[in-house]
Amino acid sequence: MFDRILSIVLAAFFLMNAHSVITTGSCYVIYGHYFDFGGLKNIVGVAFGIFGILLLLYGILGDIIGRKEEKPNLPEFTVCPKCKESFWGNDTPDLKCKKCGHNLEEMNGYYKRHPENGHQPSG
Ligand SMILES: [Zn+2]
Repeated sequence: MFDRILSIVLAAFFLMNAHSVITTGSCYVIYGHYFDFGGLKNIVGVAFGIFGILLLLYGILGDIIGRKEEKPNLPEFTVCPKCKESFWGNDTPDLKCKKCGHNLEEMNGYYKRHPENGHQPSG
């Protein structure tokens, strides 16, 4: 989280400096000191600009990628041990039965864990 905020702050810093370097040939460094890039101002300014845009993209896209990674792994199918209703895992992200509100269990291995509920074909 902090990395992405930092990258956006740095992006703003580089983009402001890119503008300053291209327009004035120098950029503000610290405590009123300006660094003069002279004849290199266009190259340095464009490099700062590209670096700033890359940091900005990382800051924005990193946030989207991060959110995807935070999504919990849902079982493919779920089943309610109380009313025996079964659901697609994606339909029940809170793992609560839509019919009765009971906690759902993963369908995979359900009848092995609860053989008393099993209705597997005999033979
Ligand atoms: Zn239920």
